[in-house]
Amino acid sequence: MKLSGLEIFKYLPGAKKAAHTNCKECGCPTCMAFAIKLAQKQITHDRCKYMSEELKNLCLKNLKAPQKTVKIDGLKIGGENVLYRHEKKFINKTVFAVVVDCKAPDFKEKLKRIKNFEINRVNEKMKVDLVILKNAEKYELKNLCDETVYIEEKDFLKLSLKRIEDNNFKKTVDKLVTTRKKAIIERDERYCDPVYVYFKSTADKYNLCARAGYYLCKYANMLVFEDFDESLFATLMTLRQNIYTDPQKPLQVEAKIYEFNNPDENSLVFMTTNFALTFFAVANELENLKIPSYLVVTPAGGMSVLTAFSAEKFTSKMVAKTLKKFDLANKVKTRKIIIPGLLAPMKNELEKALPEFEIIVGTIEAYSIGEFVKKII
Ligand code: SF4
Repeated sequence: MKLSGLEIFKYLPGAKKAAHTNCKECGCPTCMAFAIKLAQKQITHDRCKYMSEELKNLCLKNLKAPQKTVKIDGLKIGGENVLYRHEKKFINKTVFAVVVDCKAPDFKEKLKRIKNFEINRVNEKMKVDLVILKNAEKYELKNLCDETVYIEEKDFLKLSLKRIEDNNFKKTVDKLVTTRKKAIIERDERYCDPVYVYFKSTADKYNLCARAGYYLCKYANMLVFEDFDESLFATLMTLRQNIYTDPQKPLQVEAKIYEFNNPDENSLVFMTTNFALTFFAVANELENLKIPSYLVVTPAGGMSVLTAFSAEKFTSKMVAKTLKKFDLANKVKTRKIIIPGLLAPMKNELEKALPEFEIIVGTIEAYSIGEFVKKII
């Protein structure tokens, strides 16, 4: 059972004004501060030698993962230990699986489409995670090796996974939420198996996508589809990528000067922060423009341009320091730097800090860069 800070505090010396109250040996200024940190899993229970045996046992019980992890080759399913991502992070991405019946007349074509399907987003290559092969006895499994994992249906059905049918949206959601809450909050071992939702073949793709998206958010460990539809998978993979980022680790790229289409000393110079989503959006546009250019990526703790500007992680002083470090003035003859449109209020300030350069205010959205460049070259 998950304990709150107040509940933990009741078991500590501080609550009874006993010996060692607020002794600070755990590294916290008070027993209450320790209790709050322990509840938030920011500290381990063994840092306090004076807690009651009862609390120690509760903590040890809580250390056990509330949900099992099921492995199929390199794929991990389940193993979650929080209800909400912001509490810590989600561990294993919801697995996307497709059922292929090897007796179906079109099964080779379906396998080929699955094999060829791939999306690349924010530098992550995504493919179908798992293929469950029905009636596969005669089929040569060894011929299928690629990044997707294959399993025969008879082996899949032996795994410790709980199946929920997608036949009534409300009931399915209730089952998913109840199962996850029982496992995580109540630590009820009867609910510790990872859960998958099974989708039968349907022609209503929009409805299927909406339902699958909801189950992905709450709280399916795996989604198994009888149909394979590229647009459905691309949509769900994009959603999954956003949910399964670690909220404590900003998505960031290395701060440096990136080159596109073999730039020389006269090429255009763009600037942005090291927030990964912004970087890849701008980088994709610059690459596709087929015009040589540089992109100066400044260190900003992985924050987007506006957040970095507001949090003073993108100041004119910092930009000047970064450009000096990158030796931009000697690398290019160009004396113009294109900054994101959202940073227009910084233009004058940047020009003062970078007297060698003219600051050009670019576009707010990355997709407009192409049109913008046509106007300035
Ligand atoms: Fe309180 Fe234990 Fe920390 Fe001492 S070590 S302050 S008793 S929680």
